[in-house]
Amino acid sequence: MAELRRQSLVAYGEPLRETIVERPKPRGSEVLVHVERCGVCHSDLHLQDGYFTLGGDRKLDVTSGRALPFTLGHEIAGVIESAGEAAEGATVGRRVAVYPWIGCGVCAACRAGEENLCSAHRHLGIVADGGFATHVLVSHPRYLLDYAPLPPTIAGPLMCSGLTAYSALKRLTGRPERGPVLLVGLGGVGMMGLAIARALFRQAPIVADIDSEKRNAALAAGAAQAYDPSDPQARKAITTATGGLFTVCDFVGSDKSLQFSTAVLARGGKVVVTGLLGGMFSMGAAMFAIKAMTIEGTLTGTLAEAQEVLDLARAGKIAPIPTRDRPLNEAQAALDDLRAGRVVGRTVLSA
Ligand SMILES: [Zn+2]
Ligand SMILES: [Zn+2]
Repeated sequence: MAELRRQSLVAYGEPLRETIVERPKPRGSEVLVHVERCGVCHSDLHLQDGYFTLGGDRKLDVTSGRALPFTLGHEIAGVIESAGEAAEGATVGRRVAVYPWIGCGVCAACRAGEENLCSAHRHLGIVADGGFATHVLVSHPRYLLDYAPLPPTIAGPLMCSGLTAYSALKRLTGRPERGPVLLVGLGGVGMMGLAIARALFRQAPIVADIDSEKRNAALAAGAAQAYDPSDPQARKAITTATGGLFTVCDFVGSDKSLQFSTAVLARGGKVVVTGLLGGMFSMGAAMFAIKAMTIEGTLTGTLAEAQEVLDLARAGKIAPIPTRDRPLNEAQAALDDLRAGRVVGRTVLSA
């Protein structure tokens, strides 16, 4: 029997374990992709836990819709190994990045091209088996995007951290004359955001992170200034230097990060939130009007945006972020390192 090896979630809150199943044969429009690399994302930690922290004791349960053992991993780049008879263009041997945010195809969001927001989705590595494995089954070749001349270590993470950052930053590009964008939080998505912001904005972005190592990495990667949001003087320093900001991207999504992000806004400013760290945010309701403020959330991005960010990267406009390669059987160690804050940039697993 041809095998499919994977590092599986066998119980919530427990370490991943290797499971081996028979390698599926793609039927109809399905395509079997041999995984070359799969990035490790912060949301994998929440899926392993089975919940997101909302604040205090409140949790958002995310254990439904997923049979165990389950394969996490949604930042996949690989090679087409076989394809069903109706999978047009899925040439065996083609190297592809996999768009994982696959929708039902019939709901209002899907019909508008927003499969990432589908109400009955089949997102890979979220409810359908993902890429911490030797192979992944994809329902249709439209989700497979050519990534040459990029390496698979870069192409895979572009499908989540890159796409998330791109989609969020695109919502802030309308007012370049109003000063620099502030990027809050320099984890994998934030560092990718910095690289993408340098391609999308004329002015170099300013950044904020509590970790000095990450601030230094950002300065080395072209940030104009770096601030420590845990420093009580930081907010004043930013508003004094800039007069208040019109565009902020919060890659953390915690009570503290959102307090910081809104505190440095100018009147008419906007914060886009992509982070999922947790906590409870509160603000005087009148402040929305008094500051003419917008807080907007985003969740990954559309297939069209995935193509756009991939095109930017393939054109050499996105500087590669630091990446560490690890074998698939170190998936749990990679998750542990990410949870402990020991990762700068992105970790990618190779089967
Ligand atoms: Zn992700
Ligand atoms: Zn849908």
